[in-house]
This record gives sequence, structure tokens and C-alpha cells, in this order.
Amino acid sequence: MTSPESVESSSALSPIEQSLDLVTEVPGPRSQELMARRASAVSGGVGATHPLFVTRGGGGILEDVDGNRLIDLGSGIAVTTVGNSAPAVVQNVQQQVELLTHTCFMVTGYEPYLQVCEKLNELTPGGHEKKSALFNSGAEAVENAIKIARHYTGRSAVVAFEHGYHGRTNLTAGLTGKAMPFKKGFGPFAPEIYRVASSYPLRDGGRDGHTAAADAISRMQVEIGADQIAAIIIEPIQGEGGFIVPADGFLNDLAQFAKDNGIVFIADEVQSGFARTGTWFASEQFDLVPDLITTAKGIAGGLPLAGVTGRAEIMDAVHVGGLGGTYGGNPVACAAALGSIQTMVEQDLRQRAVELGELMVSQLQELADQTDVIAEVRGRGAMVAVEIVEPGTLTPDPALTKEILTRALSAGVVVLSAGSYGNVLRFLPPLVISDDLLHEGLNIVTGIVTELAGAR
Ligand code: PMP
Repeated sequence: MTSPESVESSSALSPIEQSLDLVTEVPGPRSQELMARRASAVSGGVGATHPLFVTRGGGGILEDVDGNRLIDLGSGIAVTTVGNSAPAVVQNVQQQVELLTHTCFMVTGYEPYLQVCEKLNELTPGGHEKKSALFNSGAEAVENAIKIARHYTGRSAVVAFEHGYHGRTNLTAGLTGKAMPFKKGFGPFAPEIYRVASSYPLRDGGRDGHTAAADAISRMQVEIGADQIAAIIIEPIQGEGGFIVPADGFLNDLAQFAKDNGIVFIADEVQSGFARTGTWFASEQFDLVPDLITTAKGIAGGLPLAGVTGRAEIMDAVHVGGLGGTYGGNPVACAAALGSIQTMVEQDLRQRAVELGELMVSQLQELADQTDVIAEVRGRGAMVAVEIVEPGTLTPDPALTKEILTRALSAGVVVLSAGSYGNVLRFLPPLVISDDLLHEGLNIVTGIVTELAGAR
């Protein structure tokens, strides 16, 4: 795909130029000033991957408060899949915000909510009858999926997985498999959550998927009892855990076990969903048809929106009034989602995710072949990660990972980390980034890795 040199916006602003341009050190003086204000005004509990303040973004670029243009390889954690302030999102939001900002869908309806539900019912895997409900955040969607599954089954136990991440509320932090920074000091967590081993081919000796599933199932049967389990919740590709792609057969065997035992199988696609992996949902890549699917992040181009979609009989099991919330499915966020989905269709961003993925994997694999600090390059579509280790071992190297992030930022590239051991570099470029910009960003990162690995 040839790339535009600037990205149009439907606002009065001039288009944002699609090139890296550093006019100060990064972070620059204005960012540093705002970081100091942040330290005195914002809770110290709110983390900051990068000490940077930005003013605008578009395509593959973020512009900071010092006038630097940086390459965005993180999409605000898999959110701005269609790019920041994508024209169709901006246009829909502008129109909607002038018409109606809120009624609460539980008070009076408005059509954009219906349109988003219809889209979710259509785009999520499976040809069965589906229904949806909308919420504000991924965690809220997960909470509601669990509520629905419990109500439907009349059971309470929920099974989650090692390396899983599902949010920061009490229930979803309980489902999350990582203490720091998500759980430490925040307990007690909701009861009836059980955690079993996932499939992590790099670190479980390459166990095949069927064996990994059989082990997980055996653990469920022994510890909980299949007839006590309301739901199994899993990310088809674990996101915060480090873009872990399970071995073939793992997810399907778990889904079959769920089906055989009246357990609701929930795919948490908050991070892997909405064209990111080259299909609408990562589940499709495993021929997986979840009973319920949670979505958020990439759905609305940056506005807060989330959904639970699933089998109509499960979604309808809850009594009237049992689901909802003041803002869930806010009309402006719904309008943004419709603009975002429209952009994905019109620009064939699923295909673009495949192309960007191939580009990233080949460049990163070349790096991995030249250095011994990369244990694996993995992912699907434009959800790609490398695992950073001590030379020639599988021992995670979170310090080196952090150093790479810091240096990349100074050089003008925004990259994110992930992983249970903090040693994964994850690449989630907006799907509207140009080949040239992505190459440039990756060249900078690979240069830094080569330099740091060589210096060890
Ligand atoms: N589930 C998954 C798989 C996620 O990646 C996230 C966010 N990283 C969440 C749930 C929580 O979403 P939110 O931050 O919108 O609450």
C-alpha cells in the first residue's frame, strides 16, 4: 500500500504530516514541565509508560507538546486501530455530539446503540442468533459477561488462566494472573475464581495444545467439578501476558469441554479484537466460536465503549434491568464505533493487518537471527511481540526491555512492553500506518536492540 504523506482530518486543523521529526530532546522541556505538574496533581498510582505529553495524532504519528512528531507503534494499547482522530470517527462524533450526548439507554433509546449491537452480532464469530449489550470499558464488559454466565448457568465458579489479563476492577483483577502492578495490596478478590495453566509454547516445553488442554481440564475436574463451573474465560491470544499464541487445539479442546458440560465459554477479545490480528476477531483464526465475546479498545477509535455479544439464549437469560449502567453505549461513543467499523471495512484493514504483520515479523525475525537476546518473535496479524531474554537463555530480561523502550522514545518511537515477566516488546501499530513509517520505526528499535545486545 502506498502511503499518504499526510493524514486528512475532517477538522479545520492542517493534516498531520506522516514523518518522524524531532525538534527537541524527547521528552522535551514542555513534557517535562507537565510531568512535574502531573506529579503534584495526579495520583501516584496512575502509571506512565512514557514521560510524554501529546497534543494530537493521526495515521502512524503522535505529536507531542514540544512539537516533536513520533512514530506510534502502540495505538494507545490497541485502541486507535483506525488511527487517532480518524476522519470517519471525527465526523460521526461531531454530528452526534451536536444532536444528542446522553439519555441513558435504559431510560430512552437511540439508534446508534442498536446499530453497534447489530454490527457486533454480525461481525463476531458464529452464525447463531446473537444479542449484545454495551458498556464503558473492557473490565466492565468482562464483569458483565461473568454476571450473565452465572445467571444463565446458576453456577458460580469461573476459570481463568495463567498469564491472563481481564481488567482492574475487583472481579477482573481477581481474574488477572499478575500481581504487579495489578493485584498487590488490593485484595481480597472476589471468590470462586480458579486459575489453570495456559498454553505458552515457548515456556511450557512446546507442549502440544491437546495435552495442555487436557491438563487444564483435569485440574478443573479435580479442583472444582465440571458441573460447578459457570464460565471459562480466556483471551484467544493473551495480550498483557505477552501476545502468547496458544498451541493448536488448546482453545478448541477447552471450548468442547465447555460445551459438553454446560459451561459458558467466554473469549475476551478486548485486545485481540477488531481487525487487529487480520480477522475481525482472533477466535476466527482458531475456528473458535465462543458463547460470549467481550470487546472494547479497537471498537470505537479511542472513545470509551465496550460490548458483550453472544448466544441470544444466554444474553436473554438475565432478568429485565439486570444489565446496564448510566453511560454504557453512550451515543457519541456508539457513533465513533460506527465510524471506526466503517473505516475498517472501507480500507480493508483486516488485510492491512496481515500485511503489516508480515512486514514486522520478517524485520524482527531478522533481528532475532542476529542477536541472542530475543527468544521468540510471535503474534498474529498486526499484534506482534518479541520476548527479550538474557543472552542465549530463556531467562527474562525486563531491565533490557525497559531500556529499549526508553531509548526508542528518545529516538522518537513509542513502543509498549508486556508480559508476565515484563520482558516482552509488543508492537501494535495503527493499521493505517504506512509501510515506510513502520519500517523506520522498526529500524530504530532494531538498531537499539543490536546496540544494547552488543554492549552486554
Ligand atoms: N481484557 C483484556 C484482554 C485487555 O487487554 C484489557 C485491557 N488491557 C481489559 C480486559 C480491560 O480493559 P479496560 O482497560 O478497558 O477496562
